[in-house]
Amino acid sequence: MQDVDVMIIGQGPAGLSAAIYTARAGMHTLVLGCAPKVAGDYDIDNYFGFPETISGRDLIERGTRQAQRFGAEVLCDRVLSIHQEEKDFFHIRTEQAEYRARAVILSTGVARVRPGIENLSEYEGKGVSYCVSCDGFFFRQKAVMVLGEGNFAANQALELLHYTPDVRICTQGKDVNMGEEFQGKLQQAGIPVIQNKIARLEGADGLAAVRYVDGTQDTVDGLFIAMGQAGTSDFAISLGLVMRKQFIEVDDHQLTNIPGLFAAGDCVGRFLQISVAVGEGALAARAAIEHVKSVRPK
Ligand SMILES: Cc1cc2nc3c(=O)[nH]c(=O)nc-3n(C[C@H](O)[C@H](O)[C@H](O)COP(=O)(O)OP(=O)(O)OC[C@H]3O[C@@H](n4cnc5c(N)ncnc54)[C@H](O)[C@@H]3O)c2cc1C
Repeated sequence: MQDVDVMIIGQGPAGLSAAIYTARAGMHTLVLGCAPKVAGDYDIDNYFGFPETISGRDLIERGTRQAQRFGAEVLCDRVLSIHQEEKDFFHIRTEQAEYRARAVILSTGVARVRPGIENLSEYEGKGVSYCVSCDGFFFRQKAVMVLGEGNFAANQALELLHYTPDVRICTQGKDVNMGEEFQGKLQQAGIPVIQNKIARLEGADGLAAVRYVDGTQDTVDGLFIAMGQAGTSDFAISLGLVMRKQFIEVDDHQLTNIPGLFAAGDCVGRFLQISVAVGEGALAARAAIEHVKSVRPK
């Protein structure tokens, strides 16, 4: 397990901007994530300092090089979970490693893959959950299913084994997109991966079964949604962050309701633009630097 001062989750404008500040301030800074959506052949015409059009790809590449120049480490790796198990440290589990960080800046943008189950919301809190570490306990020795096709779903399913041996994964009709290591672990644990699509949920008094599009059904007490990669809301739910709809609530310094945990950019939902993300990244970095100084042993 590696220790860092500031863990920045997201390689978009907010995360990279924050990294420039924290790395320049001498903080051991690690930026995780992969190329953000804007890093393609998209014309950016409204970002300060570029009188000629610059592509999203160029802008992100420049930002990455700038952060690296000051010593930030930038890795393409996806975060699976964040927990606060120890005073003054966050534990971050990724697809490839585990870390401890004194401060975390969430700059994960906006994305939520919707499962497309017509009556899903009726069962939220009555069998449908978005967080194994929050709700797994309520499903001890019960039949549970994780909905998702990737490493995030595999990790959630493996975590559920702490509570019950009856765990399944349903990919919601998508192709399996899990690394070999995760697939091996699932096989070893006897967790089946079902490539069917759930049409609706059933149960008079809470969830009792999932009904697939082909008309067949499976009996389940709990359904944990973990589609695509873990995103802003997944981290927010497991950490107990205050949200405003799908966005993270922060104060004027980009601080969330948890000391040491900051958020910046689209995930905060003020004005979904590069200039705003860059500015909020700088604010979050300044506050994170102060936080690390206050908790780091002298
Ligand atoms: C096609 C397109 C064109 C746009 N054009 C403009 C424009 O012309 N001008 C403008 O101002 N704005 C534009 N925008 C909006 C702008 O791109 C966003 O406002 C900005 O990128 C937000 O930055 P961010 O850092 O908050 O998030 P993002 O840029 O969305 O970055 C999110 C980062 O989080 C990472 N991430 C997410 N989940 C995880 C996880 N589990 N583990 C690790 N990393 C994770 C992603 O990999 C990514 O690196 C455009 C957006 C798009 C998609």
